[in-house]
Amino acid sequence: MASIYVIHTPADNEANPIRLSVRVIKALLRHTARAPLNGAPGSNTHVRIWPDSSPDLLYSLDMRLDPDTCYQTMLSKDRRFDGWFFVGVSSTGIYCRPVCPVRAPRRENCHFFANAAAAERAGFRPCLRCRPELAPGNGLLDVSSRLAHAAAMLIEEGFLNTGSLADLAARVGVTDRHLRRIFDAQFGVSPLEFAQTQRLLMAKRLLTDTRLPVNAVALAAGFGSVRRFNDLFLKQYGLNPLRFRKQTDARHAPDAQSVTFTLVYRPPFCWSGILAFLARRQIAGVEHIGDEIYTRTLALSHHGREIHGWISARHTPKRYALEVTLPMSLMPAVGQLLPRVRRLFDLDARPDLIDPHLGDLAAGSPGIRVPGAMDGFEIAVCALAGPSLHSSSTQSILSRIAERFGTQVSAPQALTRIFPSAATLARAPACALEDTGMTRKRADAIVALASEVSSGRMRLEPAAPLEDTLRALRSIQGVSEWAVQYIAMRALAWPNAFPPCDLTLKKQLGYASASALGRHAQQWEPWRAYATLHMWSQLEGQHS
Ligand SMILES: [Zn+2]
Repeated sequence: MASIYVIHTPADNEANPIRLSVRVIKALLRHTARAPLNGAPGSNTHVRIWPDSSPDLLYSLDMRLDPDTCYQTMLSKDRRFDGWFFVGVSSTGIYCRPVCPVRAPRRENCHFFANAAAAERAGFRPCLRCRPELAPGNGLLDVSSRLAHAAAMLIEEGFLNTGSLADLAARVGVTDRHLRRIFDAQFGVSPLEFAQTQRLLMAKRLLTDTRLPVNAVALAAGFGSVRRFNDLFLKQYGLNPLRFRKQTDARHAPDAQSVTFTLVYRPPFCWSGILAFLARRQIAGVEHIGDEIYTRTLALSHHGREIHGWISARHTPKRYALEVTLPMSLMPAVGQLLPRVRRLFDLDARPDLIDPHLGDLAAGSPGIRVPGAMDGFEIAVCALAGPSLHSSSTQSILSRIAERFGTQVSAPQALTRIFPSAATLARAPACALEDTGMTRKRADAIVALASEVSSGRMRLEPAAPLEDTLRALRSIQGVSEWAVQYIAMRALAWPNAFPPCDLTLKKQLGYASASALGRHAQQWEPWRAYATLHMWSQLEGQHS
């Protein structure tokens, strides 16, 4: 447990750090959870959780306000909850975003509001540091840090290596002038500066981890020319790239076929849990899980053309990392690929915050992750293809879809197919999908979804606007709420997704109705997706 937990009472000026057992923390969290909304807490005991840095992910939330959840979220400064609520501090009369960089106020001085207007009505003035007007989801202003984060995620995947700033702005739905403004407000740099840093970091990584020649490194990292790369690298790191490579002890022997990267995570990491989850849902021909190694095929779009390949991942617990191997054919798009692999294995999750919040539920398998998507559309098709995702009949349907509509590829573990793209399935006649063994209703839903995605009207990726995307999914006939939540959980990487209609969860917890299960799940907010994964893996573990 990396965090230090501190108890203090309102009378303390200096908090007294004490390391506590998880059991004590859980008891305290339960205790403070009884505090009334917007009121003073029920007692003078408080739990403060000091996290290290937060991952820069983006989300917004629609969920009820629970002041203690709000307070914990605020302490974590987790960007995912920016815009979800505002906190008015009675000792200063100021209200802030939950991600305000100013030192966290004491719990008893905090009052939580669903929006800025409510905080102002209660007499609080906006903070000059965190500028509540910049919070995402604030209807008063079109400025949004969430858009800036969506843009940052796309830049990390190399969007600006091929597209222009105007293209990026159009992709997140604003003008480029506006994008520059909100980006600067959020990160203090311009999108182009941000992109340049990403390219330099990627190049540094490729120089260290691979034996690629310097000109190939420059291109793979997204530089237009080797000369520009050399100049920038020298300016930034004080060495030319060749000298830098000589100084680093590259551990990879020259190998023309594949490259291996190390992707680190924050422990604990439940590798067996994520592998078992993926194994029960694997699509034959596309994915293979065996000998503690996950392998799958994939396609990436690079400079307007598709490139094909595969990845394989194995756990190296001593280094708190996954070792991810990919063929040289994917190197041009490596900047796009590695962030996706991180999301597939949910490497940016914060088990130090999530596990204590889930309490006993998480005790059996600490560090459980919510697997993301290599391709959000593929996840959506999985959610729609059959009644139960890990049933053998649904898996057979999915592998037939891959066999019939997928692109041929040659990959390790005798994998032969890349899962079909949205463009391919949008053109497929519903009756041909029906022939794979699914009902006509499901086939129609998949074709309708495929046409939304291939037209670009819907994007099934974490940078997509959450509420709009969920609404668009619900408007497609034949897409159940269960499928919407599953897609939100995996393709949109939404940590609070939860399927209240899930039959196995209802049965396991003894609830007859979705609303009763939904009420039970409130205790796990804002990490209901992780709670769901815990329960599913417990159940599936019993059955296997
Ligand atoms: Zn503030």
